[in-house]
Amino acid sequence: MTEEKRSEFKPRDYFSAENARPSKSLGQNFITDKRVIERIVSEAGITSDDEVLEIGPGLGALTFSLAEKAARVVAVEKDARLAERLAGVLAEKPNVELISGDALEVDFKSLYKGRKLKVVSNLPYSVSSPILVKLLRKRALFSTLILMLQLEVGERISSPPGGKEYGSLSVLVQTYFDVKTLFRVSPSSFWPAPKVDSVVLKLAPLHEPRVPVADEAVYEKILRAAFSSRRKMLGNSLGSALKKGAADRVLAAAGIDRTRRAETLTVEEFGALYREAVKSGEIV
Ligand code: SAM
Repeated sequence: MTEEKRSEFKPRDYFSAENARPSKSLGQNFITDKRVIERIVSEAGITSDDEVLEIGPGLGALTFSLAEKAARVVAVEKDARLAERLAGVLAEKPNVELISGDALEVDFKSLYKGRKLKVVSNLPYSVSSPILVKLLRKRALFSTLILMLQLEVGERISSPPGGKEYGSLSVLVQTYFDVKTLFRVSPSSFWPAPKVDSVVLKLAPLHEPRVPVADEAVYEKILRAAFSSRRKMLGNSLGSALKKGAADRVLAAAGIDRTRRAETLTVEEFGALYREAVKSGEIV
């Protein structure tokens, strides 16, 4: 697409022509800084063999650049008006498949055509955590994920144990991915400008999870219980995942002091906790 054509889709111009406003609940903050777009696409290292999944293409800021490099781009947009608008301008890009729908409901497996997808997305902040969890559960379909997130969410994902940002999402993502923080993006790179900084992360799926997890639902349950009350000692917080009185036995078997708090445990220690919980047969 030429610069001239692309400039027709400046988000502010589009919305004022439509007499509409970007939706806060859909997390609509559009990238307007071309350097940010170029950097994201370059970090994704897209080649002509790549198939890409973009969640929330909006008005296509990233989509066009991705389509110029990739073999195929599948873009899922929940806002039907934007999807319709984008479908019109993407008609000249036969390698882009636009799905008008909710990324939380789309069956990602049906998008897989034999080559793992690269995920490149400026994620809608309003649903970034559930989308991340969905991507994580379907990670076998993806080769790498380049994600722009609200800084606070990015810090939660990449935080090491001990920090106040370290939580169940950090443990879950770090169990399955290598996490690298690529760069920060200031609010002035978007329209409308969000209130907070953003960050771009690269998530590379590990060949083997950092700890063996046979039952991911149980693992997630234990993580949620452990972090349910950050100030509580683990001996008390694990009560919602284990039968009455079992928490202390399971913690002792895992070699973890019952007085420790969830944010001090490494991913490996959560692995031990999960293993002993499963062994005990006392999960509720
Ligand atoms: N990619 C565009 C850009 O960077 O300028 C737009 C990014 S904007 C942060 C997020 C986009 O995701 C919006 O277009 C919004 O409508 C869309 N969106 C919000 N929730 C969604 C969902 N559940 N599934 C798919 N798209 C969604």
